[in-house]
Amino acid sequence: MNNRRDFLRLGAGVLATGMLPTSLLWASTKVKRVPALVIGGGLAGLSTARNLKRLGIDSVVLEARDRVGGRTINLPLPGGHVVEGGGEWIGPGQDRIAALAAEVGVDTFDAYYSGAGIYEIQGLVSKGLLPELSLQQGFSFSRLAWRLQSMADSLPLGKPWKAINANYLDNITLAAWLKKEGASSWVIDAFRIITRAIMSGYPERISLLWFLHYIQSSGGLLGIALNDNGLQDLRFVGGSQMVSINAAKDLGDKVHLGEPVISVSDNPTGSVEVQTPKGTYLAERVVVAMSPADTLRINFKTGLSAQRESLVKKWAGLTRLPLIKHSVIYKKPFWREAGLNGNVVTDHSPLQLVFDNSPQDASLGVLTSFLSAAEVPGMASKTDRVRLIPQELSRYFGSKALDTTGYVEKDWSTDPWSIGCITPLTKGILTTAGPALRKPVGRIHWAGTESAEIGCGYMDGAVRSGEHAAIEVHKVLKAKV
Ligand SMILES: Cc1cc2nc3c(=O)[nH]c(=O)nc-3n(C[C@H](O)[C@H](O)[C@H](O)COP(=O)(O)OP(=O)(O)OC[C@H]3O[C@@H](n4cnc5c(N)ncnc54)[C@H](O)[C@@H]3O)c2cc1C
Repeated sequence: MNNRRDFLRLGAGVLATGMLPTSLLWASTKVKRVPALVIGGGLAGLSTARNLKRLGIDSVVLEARDRVGGRTINLPLPGGHVVEGGGEWIGPGQDRIAALAAEVGVDTFDAYYSGAGIYEIQGLVSKGLLPELSLQQGFSFSRLAWRLQSMADSLPLGKPWKAINANYLDNITLAAWLKKEGASSWVIDAFRIITRAIMSGYPERISLLWFLHYIQSSGGLLGIALNDNGLQDLRFVGGSQMVSINAAKDLGDKVHLGEPVISVSDNPTGSVEVQTPKGTYLAERVVVAMSPADTLRINFKTGLSAQRESLVKKWAGLTRLPLIKHSVIYKKPFWREAGLNGNVVTDHSPLQLVFDNSPQDASLGVLTSFLSAAEVPGMASKTDRVRLIPQELSRYFGSKALDTTGYVEKDWSTDPWSIGCITPLTKGILTTAGPALRKPVGRIHWAGTESAEIGCGYMDGAVRSGEHAAIEVHKVLKAKV
């Protein structure tokens, strides 16, 4: 991501919190005491609070935005439908997000994959279940994918920095390793499509150790790559944000919206002091539930460990592709009549992957895709995107793709509360600062999908990280009784 833009977004966050006039800041200052305080009302924070409650510990969740769900957000469509602007699909092995959804009454349905997908790799357009490729390309990709998978399987789960060859793996990029192994340009392009989709970055910058950790943590490369029966298998009825909305309803007035945390002081005597524009909280334990990059906005007045400081600074400073998830609306999913499933995988378009995201009853047609405006200056403005994206879709789906009825998008690159949108971790960060992802600093604990041993980067990881943090806090608070 553009560092200057990140800096400006950080500025927006600071303006939203720390630079409020002192008189306004403390006008309604109240000191509240709580056993545990959770910062962040995304899936990780809500999972933390829910599990603390289950373990008999009262907590308050402080959320900066005026909504819960963090990196999951429902965008309204005509007819009362919604489409997701952030996290959306789940698949096999993602049991904890599935369990949470079931507990809060959110059902799932099968994403639509009947019919042929469209592939455009290195200029060759094909339709089918898989891209058209030569025997040599297929063999070469499978061989390297298998090698990567077995290297990933041999890492200590959730602690990749403890691998015997961790230093080597963390000091080489995925692209450098692929080249060393003799990968053809076709194979490298295939991995560029994968990392652009899952990490918002390219193999040339991504640490091999991070890539291996990510695929191990999410259950394997095959699951990541597959849609049907893979990690893009199921969608949530009412949209993924419903899971957070319903989980927050269960917590009632314990979830405080529009209350960004400005500072945290872990005073050795007394309680941890947390300040927001609305007042001061004193807590026995604090759980910070967000990406390491997003914690940069909070002033940890009593300091953090050197390793945690380094983790946060490096995470926030990563070069990410600024990401926009957008959906074009049609009267109906017309591509289905042509035997297409709406899926496009391409290395030749500003649109990354395209998915059929129509409502379950197919009363509307929706094609969703991802775009990095930094790579396509011609689509930098929303007006241009509304005009040009249907034209781009028409290359794959014909002139009917021009006949749109609406357009919605979520631009993550301008969101001041989600700098750590998706993570393309570069060389040397996991081995030097990785353990700080989960290690508490004094009475401050960490959650958020990036800290999860299983499901790192996914909604499942967010839920699991909250379960882990709640158990950690319960252990220490119970020991004190
Ligand atoms: C475009 C996109 C597509 C994705 N697709 C998928 C997918 O299909 N499947 C999948 O499983 N995952 C997907 N993900 C990832 C998934 O959305 C995330 O892993 C998950 O939602 C992260 O949850 P979290 O609680 O860890 O963090 P967040 O959702 O980021 O929650 C952190 C919360 O902390 C709040 N916060 C930040 N600063 C402060 C502060 N100072 N004070 C108080 N609150 C603060 C934020 O507002 C936010 O609500 C996608 C993500 C994106 C962006």
